[in-house]
Amino acid sequence: MQLFETIDTMRDKSRAWRRKNKRFGFVPTMGALHEGHLSLVRAAKAQCDVVAASIFVNPTQFGPNEDFSKYPRTFERDCELLENEGVSMLFAPTVEEMYPPRAVTYVTVEGMSEKLCGNSRPGHFRGVTTVVSKLFNIVEPDVAFFGQKDAAQVAIIRRMVRDLNIPVEIVACPIVRETDGLAMSSRNAYLDPQQRKAALVLSRSLKEAQVLYQQGVRDAQPLIDHSKEMFAQQPSARLDYFEIIHPATLEPVEKIISPSLVAVAAYLGTTRLIDNIVLG
Ligand code: AMP
Repeated sequence: MQLFETIDTMRDKSRAWRRKNKRFGFVPTMGALHEGHLSLVRAAKAQCDVVAASIFVNPTQFGPNEDFSKYPRTFERDCELLENEGVSMLFAPTVEEMYPPRAVTYVTVEGMSEKLCGNSRPGHFRGVTTVVSKLFNIVEPDVAFFGQKDAAQVAIIRRMVRDLNIPVEIVACPIVRETDGLAMSSRNAYLDPQQRKAALVLSRSLKEAQVLYQQGVRDAQPLIDHSKEMFAQQPSARLDYFEIIHPATLEPVEKIISPSLVAVAAYLGTTRLIDNIVLG
């Protein structure tokens, strides 16, 4: 695996691959890799001739009081994991390389960026869409792989790619979970044992929504009410949102008559976790 820290060297190499007519896959990450990230790499390997990954903890998607500086960084281990999965290129730029002085241009997917996590983390999705469009411009992949774990992110990136005619195909990969159901996340490392246990209320609330749906409930509100009750009984977890929305527009749905995204976010102490499931 070749490591690139500058935009020019990364772009030269990816263009060289593209000239060979190779189908070029890309997996953007913030590092602290786990099986969820590796599942994206494996999907990319299965569908592409050559795979690049990136590790960049993107400051513009963190709010001023969020965990940018303490976000877990495990670069050497990450490199080993990516190398073992057969990744050919790793792009790992510094913040200064990605954001030169006086960089003032942002990409915003209006009307979607304020929804779900965008509501509780103002500016978060603007940071995501800005960095992802920059990464697409640098790496120029044919296909990019994202996790369904960040379902709103997938919807917003798909819309950005469509609206801006970015020539990249977006593939969403299923959520990888721990054996007890907790969605894997780099932030799970922040949890103490008691919070780790309490964190199961996220996946359980989604499972119970699924059971109610399977029993024939189609109205969104009773599912939302039921989940709020579950959170009320788990005081170690503070519910941020539990919403049922259209998976492409992120608009709330009142009745689940076509595939609908059930998305939850909650705080365990200061750690914010998200999860989701698609019903219908
Ligand atoms: P991050 O490093 O958190 O920015 O995540 C990089 C990519 O990995 C994103 O596309 C995430 O959606 C994806 N990802 C993170 N956790 C999981 C998971 N548990 N299952 C599947 N994909 C994941």
